[in-house]
Amino acid sequence: MDGDLQDLRRKLGEVSDIHNAIALLQWDQETCMPPKGGEARSWQLATLSALEHRLFTAESLGNLLRELHARASALEAADATLVEVALYDYNRATKLPEDFVHTFAQEQSRALAVWVDAHRTSDFALFRPNLERLLALARQKAEYLGYAESPYDALLGDYERGMTTAEVKRLFAGLAAEQSRLVERIVAAGQPGLAWLAGDWDEAAQWAFSLRVLEDMGYDFEAGRQDPSIHPFSIYFDTCDVRVTTRATKEALFSCLMSSIHEGGHALYMQGHAEGDRRTPLCDAPSLGMHESQSRMWENEIGRSLPFWRHYLPIMRGFFPGRLDTVAPEDVYAAVNLAKPSLIRVEADECTYNLHIIIRFELEVALIEGDLDVGDIPGAWNAKVREYLGLDVPDDAHGCLQDIHWAHGAFGYFPTYALGNLYAAQVFNAMLEQIPDLWGNVERGYFGPLLSWLRANVHVHGRRKLARELLHDITGAELSPEPYLAYLNHKFGALYGLGT
Ligand code: ZN
Repeated sequence: MDGDLQDLRRKLGEVSDIHNAIALLQWDQETCMPPKGGEARSWQLATLSALEHRLFTAESLGNLLRELHARASALEAADATLVEVALYDYNRATKLPEDFVHTFAQEQSRALAVWVDAHRTSDFALFRPNLERLLALARQKAEYLGYAESPYDALLGDYERGMTTAEVKRLFAGLAAEQSRLVERIVAAGQPGLAWLAGDWDEAAQWAFSLRVLEDMGYDFEAGRQDPSIHPFSIYFDTCDVRVTTRATKEALFSCLMSSIHEGGHALYMQGHAEGDRRTPLCDAPSLGMHESQSRMWENEIGRSLPFWRHYLPIMRGFFPGRLDTVAPEDVYAAVNLAKPSLIRVEADECTYNLHIIIRFELEVALIEGDLDVGDIPGAWNAKVREYLGLDVPDDAHGCLQDIHWAHGAFGYFPTYALGNLYAAQVFNAMLEQIPDLWGNVERGYFGPLLSWLRANVHVHGRRKLARELLHDITGAELSPEPYLAYLNHKFGALYGLGT
């Protein structure tokens, strides 16, 4: 191999090792670190993060990347892509001055601590000064990064490379009115009876059942494990070590399972990256939206389908002896697809979820473009919740203080959740066309063909294609709201007897 390329792979490998070691420390912090370990952990994380940044932004790495990029046409296509992706990351990382990165990180940790109190006491005024400083820093960051039209474009680029604010606006405009109308019709139709769900459900049995489903999905327990954490997540240390977490609560029969399936969808993606891309920045999804498409597709399109429950209800009865004998697959199907407007995003169902995101996106764009002052957020938030969800917000804890994202200074993140739903619908439609008898396989609990298709069409490409290119290669189409709306209307129209 070319000596420069060897040198590049060695340097990127070192950065990747530190990055993944940081991830392992974070995993430990969320799953098993004793309470007194927090202080030392923050020193370790700060030191390693600074080391990673220093190694990755080194002038020598920049020179090497620029030299290789200049002769990219003479490189093998696979190597040229590695150089292109690493140079993109390098340019973004070096556009931000070091003292700015430091100030941002300090402001983030201060804001997080204040947000926890403000959220607990529903006191927006307490959080307001922190949010004002973070917003100013986010706008400064956009100036450093540069943009063509909206400063929001620059921030979106951290999460959804290649997507513009204008495009997101167009996609969301297509969703908002249709989804609001569907929600109104569901509210008018009334809810199914779910008396059988009442009572407590053994948490150990929920846990064991979730492991069984993960195993069936094809999650490799020789290259991963599931542990309890307060907030479920999935995390990558290497293609051969991808972990998931979930939580079981006795009042909520399906919450542990659905979180496991969701994180399992992310984890299958990460276990499926190309062997040759390990220790490089290519072992990731091209965007958060595409990553989210994989978790949502497994959770919603598959895990909340009737064929899935025809297979798993009899198995589930074995985990909860005597509790589910008179329950039918159709009852579970109705229960896991219960749809109704609610105030809290993370508890929202498929019909209302995107509306929560659209509210946040519209406010974020207004904040970043300077059309909304931080002090006016609560009023603007509550007006939008009334407009899109038909609900009154009782206090800011159930309104604009509910999410942690702004306390992280993560403006531009929210849209990726809804984009994930759109990617998922289009990718799933392609699977339905290309995999013979997909639903028959799901009804037999046989996910092999499905996983093989995802491995070949999505997982193995990592960041070698932009999300837009990946989607186009799979479906021949651009991202659009229509397939997701058709999916929602079809599924919930039948569930709630809405007619056409
Ligand atoms: Zn997710």
